[in-house]
Amino acid sequence: CGIVGYIGDDQAKDILIKGLQKLEYRGYDSAGIALVNDNGVELHKEKGRIASLEEAIGNKGIGTTGIGHTRWATHGAPSKENAHPHQSISKRFTLVHNGVIENYQQLKRDYLQDVDLASETDTEIIVQLVESFAEKGENIDEAFRHTLGLLHGSYAIALIDNEDDETIYVGKNKSPLLIGTGDDVNVVASDAMAMLHITKEFVEIMDQEVVIVKKDNVQIRKLDGTEVTRDSFTTDIDE
Ligand code: GLU
Repeated sequence: CGIVGYIGDDQAKDILIKGLQKLEYRGYDSAGIALVNDNGVELHKEKGRIASLEEAIGNKGIGTTGIGHTRWATHGAPSKENAHPHQSISKRFTLVHNGVIENYQQLKRDYLQDVDLASETDTEIIVQLVESFAEKGENIDEAFRHTLGLLHGSYAIALIDNEDDETIYVGKNKSPLLIGTGDDVNVVASDAMAMLHITKEFVEIMDQEVVIVKKDNVQIRKLDGTEVTRDSFTTDIDE
């Protein structure tokens, strides 16, 4: 299980698939990717092997911004419906999550009584919460930080907005997560190994931090909005 993300000038599909293959050692039962392009978000997910996902995508999968996931099911059986990425009702927001949300049932009762969930996962409530706060008028980074502040448990999250192909929103608590940085390209990964084909330069993200990732900028904040500065490091692991 793990997450990856890419934002840059190249097509993201093959880069994300390669990243997911590098995360295979963490174990998984299903996999998926989502890409932002002119038509909104293009979503592909499959139960089983990454090779099956790749085959299902074929020559589709267009976009230079994208996120990917290998799932190790904790809530809800391994299936295509429960595979990540998960989408909000309007399909505006799409999200991948590694970890476990302990209070997801409570959050569903408190905030999402009227929402018909498409999966049995603890993950889907996260993306539905972001949408519900955005619909109440919060801008996306407020809605994202508001949502993460309500979660109990572990998460590494990457979220995209179908109206914006220039940003990946990232959050972390008790699940591993790094941002890889390059020249007009930035990546997201549960393990540096997943993105060594793009960069060897990484920034560590701490618990209860969110990151707004653009291709030429990485902005780290605490959940209360305070900005954080942190230097990157160069890894000496080989691909
Ligand atoms: N708890 C989530 C699920 O069951 C994420 C599991 C994972 O980290 O792969 O879908």
